[in-house]
Amino acid sequence: MDHEDNPIEVETVEANAAWFSERIWAISGNKVVTKDGAAIPRTTLAKTIYRPRSAQEIAAVIKSLPKSMPIACVCGGHESANASAYASTEAIILDLVHLKSIEFSNDSEGMLVTLGAGVCFRELVEAVKANHGALPVGTGQGVGAVGYIVNGGLSGYFSRRLGLLGQRATRMTVVMATGEIRVLTPSDPLFTAMLGAGSALAVVVDVTLRVAPQNVVRGGEQRVMAFETRAQAVAYSHRALRLMKERILPDETVSMELVVAGTKVLVATFVFYDGFKGSIADFVKPWEDLAAEMKLPVVAEGHWASWYETAAALWPVIAGQKGDPLVSMYHAMGTRGMPDDATLAFVCDTVVAEAPLDEAAMSIVEIRALGGAAMSGRKLPTGNCHHAFFLDMVTIYDAKGKSAEERMVIADLTKRVVDKARAVGGLSIDLSGTHSQPDDPDRSAVAAVIFGTEDMAAMVKATKKQVDPHNRFRFHPFAKFVS
Ligand SMILES: Cc1cc2nc3c(=O)[nH]c(=O)nc-3n(C[C@H](O)[C@H](O)[C@H](O)COP(=O)(O)OP(=O)(O)OC[C@H]3O[C@@H](n4cnc5c(N)ncnc54)[C@H](O)[C@@H]3O)c2cc1C
Repeated sequence: MDHEDNPIEVETVEANAAWFSERIWAISGNKVVTKDGAAIPRTTLAKTIYRPRSAQEIAAVIKSLPKSMPIACVCGGHESANASAYASTEAIILDLVHLKSIEFSNDSEGMLVTLGAGVCFRELVEAVKANHGALPVGTGQGVGAVGYIVNGGLSGYFSRRLGLLGQRATRMTVVMATGEIRVLTPSDPLFTAMLGAGSALAVVVDVTLRVAPQNVVRGGEQRVMAFETRAQAVAYSHRALRLMKERILPDETVSMELVVAGTKVLVATFVFYDGFKGSIADFVKPWEDLAAEMKLPVVAEGHWASWYETAAALWPVIAGQKGDPLVSMYHAMGTRGMPDDATLAFVCDTVVAEAPLDEAAMSIVEIRALGGAAMSGRKLPTGNCHHAFFLDMVTIYDAKGKSAEERMVIADLTKRVVDKARAVGGLSIDLSGTHSQPDDPDRSAVAAVIFGTEDMAAMVKATKKQVDPHNRFRFHPFAKFVS
C-alpha cells in the first residue's frame, strides 16, 4: 500500500479467510444454506482491512477514501448476520482490535470506566472486578462491548437491576462519516441515537460508562436438570414459567432465566440483587421441588457469590461451542408487560417443543425476566428497554458433517417457529439489534419494535439521513430499513 492510499501509515491486514476465521465467532445460519453445492462463504468480501490505533487514525483513513465508499466496523465479530465481516467488494473494514484501553476515573457520583472500541466483555469484566465494580455485561466473553452497546445490548442476569449498558453511558468519542472527530455527551441528540442504532451512524472510538458498586449483585444460583424427552422439557417449562410469573416478574430484587438446551438439560438460573431479603435456598426450592416431582435429576449446581462469579459463569460453556464452521441464528420474542397465560403456553408448546434442539444440538431457548431498571431507565432506541419478559431462540451447530439439506432443514425449522410467533398477538419479534437475525430472507424486523417506539424509529431514520447521507455505514442489523 503506498503513502497516498494510506496517508498516515495505518496498519493493514490481508482481507482473507484467515482474518475472517480469526475474527468471526460463527457464520449465519442463512449464509450456510447454499444452492447447488456451493461452498459455505468463509471469507470477507472487503478490499482492505485497516487496524487503526486512535481516533486520529480512523479519521485519516475515512478522509483518505472517496466520499461515498462504504465502511464496515468489526469489534468483537459476534453479530449474527456477519454483515460487517463480509462487508462488500467496494468496502473497507475498520478492524478495531487494537483499541483496547480501559481506564477508570471518579466524579462526584462515583466510578466511571472509559473503554476503547476493541474491548471484549472478558477484558472489561476482569478490569471492573479489579476495581470492585459491577456492570450489566452480556454473557459472551468475546462479544465486543461497543458492538453490544451500539445495538442496544441487554444483560439477562443484570439489566433488571443495573439497566442496559447503554443506559450507563455518559460520554463517547466518535468519528463521523465525514472523518470529523466528535465527543458526544447525553445532551447531544446523536448520543442517544448511538446507544441502539450506532452501528448505522458513526464509528465509536471509546465510550465512558458509570460503574455500579460490586455489592449491587449478591450472586446467583443455578440448577441443571437432565431430561430425556422433549415432552418432559415442555411440561417442566409450563410449571416453571408459571412460578416465574408469580414469584419473579413482580419482584425486582431477583431475576430468573430458564434455558432449555439441545444437550437435554433444563437450566434454571436465579440472580439475587442487593434488595433481596430472605433465604436464597428457600427462594429456589419450588423449582427444585418441581424437578423432583417430575423425576428430572439435578445433574449440576452453581453457587455464585458475587457479581464477578455470575458475570463469568457462562464463559466456559460458550468457549466450548466450536465448529468448522460454527453456525448460529438469533431470534427473540417478548412481551411489554406481564405475559398472559396464552403467551406462556405458546412459549412452551411451540417454541420449546419445536425449536430445532435435536437437529442443532448446541441450540438453546433462553426464557428470561427483564423490565426493572432497563424499563424504568433512560429510553434508548432499542426494544430491550420496553420488555418485561422475553426469550431468545439461539440455533447453534457445527456445520462439519452436516449436508446442505440438513442445514436447510435447521434454518427452516427455526424460521417456522418465528413465523408462528409473529402471528401471536402481544408478542414482539426481534426486539433489538442484538436480538435479531437481520439476514432472514423475505422477513424483516419492524423498525418501531427494534428501536422501541415509532418516535425512536423516526428519530433514528432522520439522524441517519443527516449524519450519513451516502450510507457509508451500511453493514449493521438495521440495513433493511435504515439507509
Ligand atoms: C455468544 C454470544 C453471546 C451474546 N450475548 C449477548 C447478551 O448477553 N446480550 C445481548 O444483548 N447480546 C448478546 N449477544 C449479541 C451481541 O451483543 C451482538 O451481536 C453484538 O452486536 C455483537 O457485537 P460485536 O462487537 O461482538 O460484533 P461485531 O460483529 O464486531 O459488531 C456488531 C455490529 O456493531 C457494529 N460495530 C462494532 N463496533 C463498532 C464501533 N466501534 N462503532 C460503530 N459500530 C460498531 C458493527 O459494524 C456491526 O454492525 C451475544 C452474541 C453471541 C454470539
